[in-house]
Amino acid sequence: MHNSILIRGLIVILLSFTISFSAKANSTSEEKQITVVFRFDDYSSRSSTDIEIKLIDTFQKYNACCTFGVIPYVCAGNIHDTRPQHIVPLTSVKADILINAIKVGVLEVALHGYSHQTIRESMYYGSTEFSGLDYNAQVNKIAKGKKCLEKILDTYPTMERL
Ligand SMILES: [Zn+2]
Repeated sequence: MHNSILIRGLIVILLSFTISFSAKANSTSEEKQITVVFRFDDYSSRSSTDIEIKLIDTFQKYNACCTFGVIPYVCAGNIHDTRPQHIVPLTSVKADILINAIKVGVLEVALHGYSHQTIRESMYYGSTEFSGLDYNAQVNKIAKGKKCLEKILDTYPTMERL
């Protein structure tokens, strides 16, 4: 799971670079300012802390900021296994890493689903945690995840990316 999460996170970062370079290529003015947004998804109690600390250190070194998409209650098994699974709440160690990075201005946090467990494969959305779930169940999962992050981080997630 860690490798797939890392790869997806890196893909998001690479896509950010691709978008920024495309914007530059289409620019007609040398003075046009380009904003690059970095996002790293799937931060959870089960993700690679070593890699995440290196990322945070790197962003701090270059005085840059990154958005971490945080899974508040990651599923205990394979995220693509649709059978019932236990959930693993964000640990205090992982929360402290986020809190410290937020304090120094390196990080902003986005809610990234609830458990990230696929509930079904969708023709339109691929692996999905929410598609096909009734509206109230979706709202409930999002509200629980948001409340968890607010409580742990003592701040509001700045965005929600599901
Ligand atoms: Zn994800």
